Amino acid sequence: MPAPVSGIHFIDLKQQYRRLKPAIDQRIQAVLDHGQYIMGPEVAELEEKLAAFVGVDHAVGVSDGTAALQIAMMALGIGPGDEVITSPFTFIASAETISLLGATPVFVDIDPDSCNLDPSRLEAAITAKTRAIMPVSLYGQCADMEAINEIAARHQLPVIEDGAQSFGATRHGRRSGALSTIGCTSFFPSKPLGCYGDGGACFTSDADLARKMAEIRVHGQSKRYVHTTIGLNGRLDTLQAAVLLAKLEAFPQEVRQRAEAGDRYSALIHKVGHPHIRTVPVTSGNTSVFAQYTVRVPNRAQVIDVLKANGIPTAVHYPVCLHQQPVYASTHAGLSLPNAEAAAAEVLSLPMYPDLAHELQIRIIEHLIAAVDSTL
Ligand SMILES: *Cc1c(COP(=O)(O)O)cnc(C)c1O
Repeated sequence: MPAPVSGIHFIDLKQQYRRLKPAIDQRIQAVLDHGQYIMGPEVAELEEKLAAFVGVDHAVGVSDGTAALQIAMMALGIGPGDEVITSPFTFIASAETISLLGATPVFVDIDPDSCNLDPSRLEAAITAKTRAIMPVSLYGQCADMEAINEIAARHQLPVIEDGAQSFGATRHGRRSGALSTIGCTSFFPSKPLGCYGDGGACFTSDADLARKMAEIRVHGQSKRYVHTTIGLNGRLDTLQAAVLLAKLEAFPQEVRQRAEAGDRYSALIHKVGHPHIRTVPVTSGNTSVFAQYTVRVPNRAQVIDVLKANGIPTAVHYPVCLHQQPVYASTHAGLSLPNAEAAAAEVLSLPMYPDLAHELQIRIIEHLIAAVDSTL
């Protein structure tokens, strides 16, 4: 067994703050000075910069990634009796928001390599009640959006990308968020672009949908105290927009650092060619922002324990498929989605952040190999 390591974080936000402190502090202080904490000027400035970065006409800042999904579906008029197709291998928010609107999530199995929704299984799941398709860009890379968009177009269905983990990723040179009718993302602190609390955004090039989403996030208000539709309180805080404006400046560089760190992990693993350690490959045409760097191993619970004892934090995204969650047990009983279920049993995410040193990655992979070997 290699010697234990110390001081490794799963995600190191403090190190990032030390690097960006002057810009972040200055942006926060500006908000404290002008005092417009709700919908202050930083929100509109951020929306303009986000839209330009993603390559869409409109960005709408919202309170979090979950609200982004809900607001997107509300703008599309999704409600009781409708079905929305999504992945079973994702965070609960993807399906929870569908259910919250009174609609039913329909789970389609994933591709066993990318762990993203498998388009070849999509058409069979479309019914007369289907109102939208919501692929999830898991671990930082997009699903096969061309195939999904092609099927959606044939059935005249909108596509909502759950890009909570993929802000900054590209597919055939176009950014996540610009690949569907509406793209949604999260700025939760641990996401590729994170604020210092909750935050999120919706992206679209459809002016009508953009206006609807902007109204829905402020109680369905078209003008002050004129409420044209049912909305909610889904605003992005000015302080969070300020943090994001400072972090967005550094983000292109961080995207490169993340890609390098992800590629280094993959190279270290492939060099060893361990028969029991699988990577989640980056699909051809994609760049990943590696929201997570995830591997697949047998005996995961024991591997986690051994790594923990040696100072290496890990996480599991996600241990239970959504169709097997207690909340969906009665509505989705008996559903079998073998690729998603296999992934849920094997996946393990390793430490990942832009400042992650090559030296630490070497140690982490040494320990991963030793941990797998010791538990076989
Ligand atoms: C984080 C996440 C969300 C929810 O984002 P919040 O900002 O935490 O509400 C939704 N979908 C996926 C895939 C996520 O990873």
